[in-house]
Amino acid sequence: MSTTPAHLQEPSFRESVDIMFNRAVALMDLSPGLEEKIRVCNATYTVRFGVRLRGKIETFTGYRSVHSEHMEPVKGGIRYSMNVNQNEVEALAALMTYKCALVETPFGGSKGGLCIDPREWDEEELERITRRFAYELAKRDLIHPSQNVPAPDMGTGEREMAWIADQYRRMNTTDINAAACVTGKPAHAGGIQGRVEATGRGVQYALKEFFRHPEDVQIAGLSGTLDGKRVIVQGLGNVGFHAAKFLREEDGCKITGIIEHDGALVDENGLDVPAVREWIGKTGGVKGYPDGKYVENGASVLEHDCDILIPAAMEGVINKGNAPRIQAPLIIEAANGPVTAGADEILREKGTVMIPDMYANAGGVTVSYFEWVKNLSHIRFGRMQRRQEEARHELIVGELERLSEHMGDQWSMTPNFKQKYLRGAGELELVRSGLDDTMRTAYQAMREVWHSREDVTDLRTAAYLVSIGRVATSYRAKGL
Ligand code: GLU
Repeated sequence: MSTTPAHLQEPSFRESVDIMFNRAVALMDLSPGLEEKIRVCNATYTVRFGVRLRGKIETFTGYRSVHSEHMEPVKGGIRYSMNVNQNEVEALAALMTYKCALVETPFGGSKGGLCIDPREWDEEELERITRRFAYELAKRDLIHPSQNVPAPDMGTGEREMAWIADQYRRMNTTDINAAACVTGKPAHAGGIQGRVEATGRGVQYALKEFFRHPEDVQIAGLSGTLDGKRVIVQGLGNVGFHAAKFLREEDGCKITGIIEHDGALVDENGLDVPAVREWIGKTGGVKGYPDGKYVENGASVLEHDCDILIPAAMEGVINKGNAPRIQAPLIIEAANGPVTAGADEILREKGTVMIPDMYANAGGVTVSYFEWVKNLSHIRFGRMQRRQEEARHELIVGELERLSEHMGDQWSMTPNFKQKYLRGAGELELVRSGLDDTMRTAYQAMREVWHSREDVTDLRTAAYLVSIGRVATSYRAKGL
């Protein structure tokens, strides 16, 4: 029996996504039955497999859910966490459908998960578990360059993607497109530069675009630019870390709170994000960090006064229980589903502006798309443009060389710098500018609906309207 009082009880994650979907679809005029077709999850595959580890057979449970195949391949990450279950994977797969449609990456939605605590196993063991899971999925085409293309998510990263790609390649030795079976691979193993930072970078670009519209900033009760804004970030994993780092280093935001699993750090003068991350890497948590104040009840910091709140960890952290006390006027959902349907209602009534997950964290899948295209094209990404880029860089390097001669001892350009500058810039610059364009275009599509329709009063509903409209169009075009 649940001990949660009745008025604080919430639907499941899957139901929560459906409630938000239903709110939006009620404002649309879809042909009968199509609404149901879009909303339901097409299929969820559950696998249980054994791996011999530490002298005994360990059994693991994994899932891959396919939400919508209106476009193929379907796309979405693989999560490693003890909380993984069918309901969660299906909710996340549905969000992938809407996310891909909103940012116009030509994929359907999917998601996978393995019920595992990755910290319990060493690297060699994780490799064996991952390869076995990949084998189980690939043999059913649930990993496949043209059918289903996974990517990193919570608890997985480049390393796991490299194992998955290699496993697929071993099973499909004649597939020339094998590298495109998964994205988020290391740059030296078929990946693309800028993928690791992509989701956090996308959060930054989303906020920059929001602040380009003073009218929208005013709706949130804020003014001016990102410069000096007080930001609280929950979760300093890959997404939260990059978002906070870029906002602090490039846009002048002050990171006044960092919430982690063992507590939170607060400092009105702003925390040094890379230093905190390094501390977590060394000690396993934020406790004991020499600067700022440590708060043992980390979740309480979600309710602190700030300008922008970035939940970047997991679903359901802002719920009916704490929503009435959330003070931030602007929430950007870097995680998937951090605000429950119940909290969404409370916050909307309070006038909180929420930049929805399906837009805010779409940077990852956007750059995954670039990686997939790069793999399928079999040429270095942006090769043509790179020539021009290189010519431009040669000019800049020439200028810098002249400058360093002129300045003598005060400044000199090292050969390493020159080499790096010439080698690395092309692809990364292309990826970042492609991502920036994508985030801007998607925001404008959402904004247009938000401002032009009287019955749409929030960005989430606007985002759903845009993406459901696009999914419906492609179902219609397919003749369904
Ligand atoms: N796991 C990420 C997400 O939730 C990335 C998915 C992808 O790149 O396919 O969007």
